[in-house]
Amino acid sequence: MNELKHICTIAQSLGRRKDIVQGAGGNISLKQDDDALYIKPSGRTLSDMHEPADMVRIDMAPFRSLYTQVKPDAAAAAALLVPNQGLRPSMETAFHTLMGRVVIHTHPVYVNAITCCVAGQHIARSVFPEATWVPYATPGHDLALEVRDVPGRQTNVYLFQNHGLTVVADTIDECLTLHDDVIRRAEEYTGRIEWPATLWRRREHAIVADNPVLRRYAADANAAETLLRNHPFPDSFVFTDGAPVGTFDDIIVSGAPVGLALGVGMCYRTDAKKAADYNDILTASHLVRTLADTLGGARYLAPQHLAALRMSDAERYRRDG
Ligand SMILES: [Zn+2]
Repeated sequence: MNELKHICTIAQSLGRRKDIVQGAGGNISLKQDDDALYIKPSGRTLSDMHEPADMVRIDMAPFRSLYTQVKPDAAAAAALLVPNQGLRPSMETAFHTLMGRVVIHTHPVYVNAITCCVAGQHIARSVFPEATWVPYATPGHDLALEVRDVPGRQTNVYLFQNHGLTVVADTIDECLTLHDDVIRRAEEYTGRIEWPATLWRRREHAIVADNPVLRRYAADANAAETLLRNHPFPDSFVFTDGAPVGTFDDIIVSGAPVGLALGVGMCYRTDAKKAADYNDILTASHLVRTLADTLGGARYLAPQHLAALRMSDAERYRRDG
């Protein structure tokens, strides 16, 4: 099978697994002989990758020359992410250019239970001795620099603290096998947890989600504040920054796209697809913190991390992986 077609098939199957990627999170890329990188475009979900034309082609040479500089300029890095044939490259393109031929990057809840817990690096050393632990960095240019400069970079498995998993291999099948193996080992370590089914209903001008794990937050204002103000990974913050907690009327009056109505549930004032994406991110946030607590306690993003995310192009990040 054509490799680009093959990688789209893999992207779709990964994209259907909510416990592996949520919303437009995650990414997949393939390097070809003509110094080209094919990668998921910004704002698309992995399940949107139907055919090779759905991937954006990048010329790697400008990335290579920028990232061999000691201190590459952030503005110069951003300027490399120009649309090609109408598709804007993922904001995570830079770290893909620094790795091997096939790269799969995802946000699996079992792996993130480890990357988002206080003892994460210690646990990772025993469960994934072959992996490189990458300290937290703001997604995009900062993360690419962290990946470039981390000790022990010659590896096929990267655990991004408070973010996710990245695996690298020479072939697509090897990469997928390795990716699935890391997640299986993480799941064996953390214990399995069911991804809850959500029931949707419309109420006035909002879509209300009801699932067994998010329901408990609607019954407890303190728990709701904890969910919406403490963030294990960037998407959790980017998609719920400033989300109100209050009565249903409070949420409607606020005009916020996401809010938690006490006694009602998570309310979304957006289209059904985005509502489902936000709901998946919140569900993952809940599952990750719950699993991390069983491993000794979750480590949330620090105030300076949240400030940096707010300063970063949050809108762009919101649409990206
Ligand atoms: Zn990511």
